Amino acid sequence: MFNLLKARIHHGYQAIPDPLNAAIHPSFPGLPTILRACKEDFCSASSLCPTGAIGDNSLDLGKCVFCGECTRSFPATFAFNPNFRMASSRRESLIIRWDTQSNTCTAPAVEVNAALKKLCIRSFALRNVSAGGCNACELELGASSNVNFDMGRYGIEVVASPRHADALILTGPVSKNMEQALVKTWEAIPEPRVLILCGACAISGGSFVNSDAIGRDWLQTMQPALYIPGCPAHPLSIIHGLMSLLGRVK
Ligand code: SF4
Repeated sequence: MFNLLKARIHHGYQAIPDPLNAAIHPSFPGLPTILRACKEDFCSASSLCPTGAIGDNSLDLGKCVFCGECTRSFPATFAFNPNFRMASSRRESLIIRWDTQSNTCTAPAVEVNAALKKLCIRSFALRNVSAGGCNACELELGASSNVNFDMGRYGIEVVASPRHADALILTGPVSKNMEQALVKTWEAIPEPRVLILCGACAISGGSFVNSDAIGRDWLQTMQPALYIPGCPAHPLSIIHGLMSLLGRVK
């Protein structure tokens, strides 16, 4: 017992005091910025991008797998900032665009879900379905509840049964052989329920979008409440996105 107490004192307080405003390492490739409108750079970068995330004066955060190829090749046009606040409640606002009027670029934002804010005041239970994921987003989602990030302090937890869940959080591009399990899990969650997409694969299919093994027909019919970009999504991005959706970020 005495040794246990000694170890506990030695470890100290390990949780990040405020995950919503945590300082992240400067090398973290978070929210991308477009630094200038340069047609040639966008054209060349779009042929380099492995997921087709770069379009006409735009970068689709929902498709980006953060390989860094664009910023390495065209550092005057693309930059990734150490900013984990990347989630959005609308798919279209994940597309970062250069605004020619103001010479700035847009950034994603989360709109508060009024129904969830009212219902999930103290607790928010998530059921994760990994539908063909590589296990990276699943690991980061698990890490969100570990001693460092401690998502549980806000009453947000990943639960074992869809019957106990308020939301389905999907990771992975949705392989055909997981599509039925995904639909069944969704149907097992009591209403009202929301769908959250975590990671580039869940949002757009990521690197696997053109694979024959992918079955996203059901997902196309759904209206997700939250999109959390990343490859994988960072625990701070996950926590910030969920807290924003619940209207708990000032
Ligand atoms: S960092 Fe993203 S946008 Fe840039 S090349 Fe890689 S996948 Fe494409």
